[in-house]
Amino acid sequence: LSKLRRGLEETRKGFVSELLDKLGDDPLTPESLDDLETLLIRADVGIDSTDKVINALRKKLNEEVVGGEEGIKFLKDELRAIIEKPIKNSGTNILVPQKGKLNVWLIVGVNGVGKTTTLGKLAYLSSKSNYKTLIAAADTFRAAAVEQLQVWGDRSKVDVISNQSKNADPAAVVFDAINAANKRKSDLLLVDTAGRLQNKNNLMDELSKIKKIIDKKVPDAIIESLLVLDASQGQNGLKQAKSFAKSANLSGAIITKLDGTSRGGVSLAVSAEVNLPIRFIGAGEGIKDLRPFNSFEFVEALLA
Ligand code: GDP
Repeated sequence: LSKLRRGLEETRKGFVSELLDKLGDDPLTPESLDDLETLLIRADVGIDSTDKVINALRKKLNEEVVGGEEGIKFLKDELRAIIEKPIKNSGTNILVPQKGKLNVWLIVGVNGVGKTTTLGKLAYLSSKSNYKTLIAAADTFRAAAVEQLQVWGDRSKVDVISNQSKNADPAAVVFDAINAANKRKSDLLLVDTAGRLQNKNNLMDELSKIKKIIDKKVPDAIIESLLVLDASQGQNGLKQAKSFAKSANLSGAIITKLDGTSRGGVSLAVSAEVNLPIRFIGAGEGIKDLRPFNSFEFVEALLA
């Protein structure tokens, strides 16, 4: 938790300390709500989510006098409700592979957001938790992607299935990886995809081809499509989430680079506006710097 707190320090410095300074212990006023609105927008919480929180607070203020501290508690509850909405069973929202089945997690996202790093961290996290894990290097588009993944595979002691030939078909890599996963009775197959946004049809085609192969070979496989987003990109990350959601059947998001950004609020915007549960958060470049997302922890760290 302290690591997450440190990670979110920038976001906190940016808006929360200012917020706490402004609110203090004094009762909330319409003016402090205006300040709060500005601060939330600046932290990239997003217009819709900000409206929702502010309207809820305004409604409460019309009915009673709300002290600063009480206001913060109310704010925390409202923020948590926003990120918990896409989670079916509220609270912790931890995604783990289901035992006894092959779980396939397709990792998508634009270049540079931390997709490869996140995949390496996920491999480490799951193999450390005793899930038999395998990586499929199905981003055959980017030249260095396979070598980069191999480095993470070595670090996490997880095998990487790849196809060395130039312009290999991603679906063929997944085919090989599923065979390997079946043979080894793997619990989790992590698939690095080249799912790019430049061409929506390509993205859809590639992902549906991959899914078809999985369905055919392992009909009861549990497939998750996880979108990696870079928190430091703020509203641009929200835009990416919206376009990916249009072309891919996403089931969750992973927010990276929550260390060193003042825009951690974008997680809330993604949950609220794209209706995506945040599954993991990355706060550092190291192999251990990924943790399952927990809404209580997140809001506490954000408003600590
Ligand atoms: P990809 O192009 O999406 O596969 O991105 P990479 O995994 O190659 O990461 C791009 C850069 O972001 C690298 O320098 C990573 O070390 C860095 N990075 C990834 N995740 C995080 C994170 O959570 N925090 C920080 N500070 N850097 C990260």
